[in-house]
Amino acid sequence: MSSDPNCVFCRIAIAFLDINPVAPGHVLLVPKAHSANISQSTADSIARAAAELPRLVSAIMHATGASGLNIIQNNGRDAGQLIDHVHFHLIPRHTGDAFDIPWPKSRYEGDALGEMRTRLERAFQAASGSVPANSI
Ligand code: AMP
Ligand code: ZN
Repeated sequence: MSSDPNCVFCRIAIAFLDINPVAPGHVLLVPKAHSANISQSTADSIARAAAELPRLVSAIMHATGASGLNIIQNNGRDAGQLIDHVHFHLIPRHTGDAFDIPWPKSRYEGDALGEMRTRLERAFQAASGSVPANSI
């Protein structure tokens, strides 16, 4: 399994509390294998980490008394990623809390939706031949 001696997340366990939490109980779920982001990860590495989600989410909600929880995963600086070891943020939510995702909504005009679907399908086919060895 790949590991980076300079990476802080390689040295910590698979799930731990974020040191600067959005809210108390904010947990980071970190695949063990070092890869910078989702695109560079194997499906197996992501699947192993994701398998922990049901138990982990239940535990966070129980321990914090949260009534909701967001799972957020940042890829790249423009998406807010600061640590280049792939990880998932598990953020407990409460009614009326301060956390807000300013999520602008747009719409597809004309054929733009169908054109985007075609581009994505072609890119997905191309990616299937280029993803790491034990990926789907
Ligand atoms: P991201 O911006 O998605 O890369 O998230 C990185 C997160 O890692 C931030 O929320 C930091 O607060 C958190 N973080 C950085 N270093 C540590 C550390 N040593 N222990 C726990 N959390 C950390
Ligand atoms: Zn690492």
